[in-house]
Amino acid sequence: MTDFATISTVSSKSPHLDNFDLHNHSTCSDGLLSPTQLMELAAKCGVDAIALTDHDTTDGLAEARVAAERVGVKLVNGVEISVSWGKTTLHVVGLAIDPDNPVLSAGLQAIRAGRLTRAHRIAEALANLGIPDTLAPALALAKNESMVSRTHFARHLAASGKVKNIQAAFDKYLAKGKPAYVSHEWASLKDAIDWIKAAGGTAVLAHPGRYDLKPAFRNAMLEEFRSLGGEAIEVVTGSHRPEQYATWRRIAEEHGFLASRGADYHGPGESPYEPGKLPMLPVTCKPVWSKWTH
Ligand code: AMP
Ligand code: MN
Ligand code: MN
Ligand code: MN
Repeated sequence: MTDFATISTVSSKSPHLDNFDLHNHSTCSDGLLSPTQLMELAAKCGVDAIALTDHDTTDGLAEARVAAERVGVKLVNGVEISVSWGKTTLHVVGLAIDPDNPVLSAGLQAIRAGRLTRAHRIAEALANLGIPDTLAPALALAKNESMVSRTHFARHLAASGKVKNIQAAFDKYLAKGKPAYVSHEWASLKDAIDWIKAAGGTAVLAHPGRYDLKPAFRNAMLEEFRSLGGEAIEVVTGSHRPEQYATWRRIAEEHGFLASRGADYHGPGESPYEPGKLPMLPVTCKPVWSKWTH
């Protein structure tokens, strides 16, 4: 086990009671807080260990590590990889990864490369709907062109009064099936898991309740994820409605997955839970962090 995967919580409590929050974003992808500000907030929120899991990049981890040590929270190196599984976009979180692993870095760079082209197409679609000139403002909200996301478009649409809030921007224009949605080819599920494993990490299926899959497809996806080396699924996440926790606890148990917990925090006012403030995992779950704590 490598250093970045060894997290001693110096806790005598059951792992269920350790406050691990293993899914959070910073300004390096589509979050609003810098990695430093996120670590400061995590400390204030009483988090024992936090994962920074930016979309398709590990750029924020070095800054986060310095801040985490200063404020006294454990940092789990993470990333959230965008995956195309047939017509469905899945998100796979890699935890306890080595961010310097060349296989992972090259893979992430390759999928980031498509974001700017997609952004041009989103802006074009919005212009055709009567909302011109969204590309430059969306890009201005992103740290760099290769990290521009639908979230940046949504923030711009809300800030310029085109919609009443970010959620409305997705509901009206940007979500799958809406008129400014642009389909995109991300990593394959196999590649994403291979990169995570090459980097020594654990592959976790993010917010499984958010994918719009019929039960047969859902089970096929879960089995494929497992057979390719996926080890855990998120059960308690800010991207599930609380009534979904029990469903995904049961599915985790049925399929033999470890369970993860993470706020999917994007920033003040944009996420239902601050880091570490969401409910604990159900006691029958085996926490994914039991792999690393001792
Ligand atoms: P992208 O990677 O550019 O496709 O953007 C995906 C991000 O947009 C997600 O990580 C969420 O932060 C946000 N997002 C996606 N779908 C929705 C939705 N229906 N409502 C609110 N935010 C969403
Ligand atoms: Mn996001
Ligand atoms: Mn996600
Ligand atoms: Mn996320």
